[in-house]
Amino acid sequence: MAGSGKFFVGGNWKCNGTKDSISKLVSDLNSATLESDVDVVVAPPFVYLDQVKNSLTDRIEIAAQNCWTGKGGAFTGEISVEQLKDLGCKWVVLGHSERRHIIGETDKFIGTKAAYALSQNLGVIACIGELLEEREAGKTFDVCFQHMKAFADAVPSWDNIVIAYEPVWAIGTGKVATPEQAQEVHVAVRDWLSKNVSAEVASKTRIIYGGSVNGGNCAELAKQEDIDGFLVGGASLKGPEFATIINSVT
Ligand code: PGA
Repeated sequence: MAGSGKFFVGGNWKCNGTKDSISKLVSDLNSATLESDVDVVVAPPFVYLDQVKNSLTDRIEIAAQNCWTGKGGAFTGEISVEQLKDLGCKWVVLGHSERRHIIGETDKFIGTKAAYALSQNLGVIACIGELLEEREAGKTFDVCFQHMKAFADAVPSWDNIVIAYEPVWAIGTGKVATPEQAQEVHVAVRDWLSKNVSAEVASKTRIIYGGSVNGGNCAELAKQEDIDGFLVGGASLKGPEFATIINSVT
């Protein structure tokens, strides 16, 4: 990896699980042997955050899958950054393609949330990535850079941000990007950071890959110089497989 931070692996549980299945997953994670030199984070559904925080080993940090744009109040159905911190969350996933493309979140809305989360010392896992038709139209870099610019325009500092490159066509499809495809975009994003933010931020910021990462393909991806970790959906719901992905650090 070319980023200078620790390997970072996040498990995005999305809208999955019950009290029972989550209790089993937590117990599998608690008994797994994990490489020490890796930051590990899991993002359970909001309603199970407290259960997970109270039962999961402190070795693994907790992330939320979304947050509100500012302080709480009269915002029916929303969850504030302060509430997430009260439960012990250290991170929030923002800009995930399912929120961009299914819920309709805009770059500006995502940027506002990122800035507020960071102002309250909640780390941001900032997701970027292109749709299949955008890749096929040769627009992969344009789309990723547009997502990057929206974050860069909004945030005061990059100290507490991990970038997750997640090509939408690879998410939940079983169609993983090749190591070369992922590496090419990670290099381009790092170069964008260097030109538009600073060389220091470019070398320090971790750029992780997400999209059909599993126990079988993680080792090849992890070998790529600019892949600094993973954001894992489906395979993070299986404790032993998630542990294999965490331990693929090279
Ligand atoms: P997937 O999801 O691993 O199931 O493709 C990744 C993600 O959405 O973060």
